[in-house]
Amino acid sequence: MIYTDTRDKSVQTDFRTAVMNGMNSKTGGLYIPTSYPKISSSYLSNSTDPSFRELAFEMAKPYVAGEISEDALMGIIQDAYPFPAKVVPLDQVTYVLELFHGPTCAFKDFGARFMARVMSYFNRGENGKLHILVATSGDTGSAVGSAFHNVEGLDVTILYPEGKISPLQEKQLSTFTGNVRALKVKGTFDDCQKLVKTAFTDAELRKKFRLSSANSINISRLLPQSFYYMYSALVAKNRSRNDNHIENPSIIAVVPSGNFGNLTSGLIAREMGAPIAGFVAATNDNHTIPDWIATGEYKPRASVQTYSNAMDVGAPSNYERIQSMYTLDQVRTLFASYWTDNAGTLKAIDDCHTTTGYTIDPHGAVAWKAWNDIRSGAMKDLVEGKKGDYTKPGLTPNIPSWANSIIEQKAVGIVLETAHPAKFGATVSKAIGSNPVIPDRLEKVMLLPEHAIPMNANYDEFKAFLMETL
Ligand SMILES: *Cc1c(COP(=O)(O)O)cnc(C)c1O
Repeated sequence: MIYTDTRDKSVQTDFRTAVMNGMNSKTGGLYIPTSYPKISSSYLSNSTDPSFRELAFEMAKPYVAGEISEDALMGIIQDAYPFPAKVVPLDQVTYVLELFHGPTCAFKDFGARFMARVMSYFNRGENGKLHILVATSGDTGSAVGSAFHNVEGLDVTILYPEGKISPLQEKQLSTFTGNVRALKVKGTFDDCQKLVKTAFTDAELRKKFRLSSANSINISRLLPQSFYYMYSALVAKNRSRNDNHIENPSIIAVVPSGNFGNLTSGLIAREMGAPIAGFVAATNDNHTIPDWIATGEYKPRASVQTYSNAMDVGAPSNYERIQSMYTLDQVRTLFASYWTDNAGTLKAIDDCHTTTGYTIDPHGAVAWKAWNDIRSGAMKDLVEGKKGDYTKPGLTPNIPSWANSIIEQKAVGIVLETAHPAKFGATVSKAIGSNPVIPDRLEKVMLLPEHAIPMNANYDEFKAFLMETL
């Protein structure tokens, strides 16, 4: 596969370079594949009860062809995914896609574990370490730290905004020793991301160290996230016959979004032939993308803190990829977009629990609320001309191509549950009055000592630290 760049389409490079560089330091752009090979429709129609790992292998093959052998790729996938993606029916027309069964209880395990193994594969035979710099709004750090911990030849520095992630998230990313360290930055996630991005374009640093990223800007994190979209869409399509007697439902993936890496992975799956009719881009108070879809103007801004803190991103980096894949009109046809505030998030956790018995985390809750509103009248209102005010919580005024399938009740939603509710126990308990059950793997990490290093949101200070420490 040839990869190009969101800012300069004349760039042509291989998978290895795209993965190892993370982003193109010359243009500041992000790598994207030049094509999205379709999985054969006979393969898809025979996959009524697909094996996640086999499907993952089929999907990954074309992106690494000629660079990673099929045997090695199968090994990477087997090793990366000893845990499932679970499709759980919630009501007649809603499935929850549980993406929290990995070691750190969030969907980022899917991307990070694949990326770590691919980087380790490419680093064999190199002399010297590969240094990973990663900014996190919460869950990336722990997923990356856990995925890379004690992996030979790799070294990881995690930056997180001090006081802006949950105590459990902080434990999960600051208790590593050895090749993984954490910096607690006095600032926001965007400050952390800026420090990392500046480092990547710093010629002096790059000369001294081999640097790479592990954020959702790295293509090797994005590609594997497309596996579970394909998987869940096939499962939902098949089960729908029995669960709600809708033949060939219009499948809508409802994605709680921050940096929009997850949603971009869904777009890749759809390009590859996943039976997904459209997407709901669901955000919290950080609604830069819904505003772009509503107004046509992209205005990045400072992030604000919310209950769904892993989505607190004011300048989503994958906007660049979405924009290079589709025109704004195409985006408006493919996506509904929706945002909700903190009060709406709490209410959604409570409503979901009351009406379905399911305990959902604050991120999944944003998506659930979007879907619940859309299918209970918001989309119908929109089609009938009652356009929402995009500056207020709710749907943006664009009408996606799949709007009628909602009104005709031929649509099925897949709500992505991106984290285990116990990771956000305090918020969940505030909403429903009781604490979610804590999985063992989370309980264990709470007992470990923290080793985070304080850092100001100042590039010179950050650079000096890297020069001294790496
Ligand atoms: C990172 C994260 C998100 C947002 O995903 P993006 O790919 O940044 O849009 C949503 N939910 C949880 C739990 C996360 O950790």
